[in-house]
Amino acid sequence: MPTSVCPECSEEVYVDAEIEQGDEVACDECHSRLTVVGLDPIELDLKDETEGGEADRDEFGIYDSEDDRY
Ligand SMILES: [Zn+2]
Repeated sequence: MPTSVCPECSEEVYVDAEIEQGDEVACDECHSRLTVVGLDPIELDLKDETEGGEADRDEFGIYDSEDDRY
């Protein structure tokens, strides 16, 4: 299994032999999500968490007021 170095904690990260550029791997040591930015040699980059855009917000928070009944 090829390895690369985690940009966050500098530990070795094992990556799949058939990994492709743009794939995501997770560091076993610090559990950072890393994106493959290069393959020869394998380079990993910290995934930018500020640019996520995933629907992970609590959209139903407004209904969370059951104590407020008449
Ligand atoms: Zn790490």
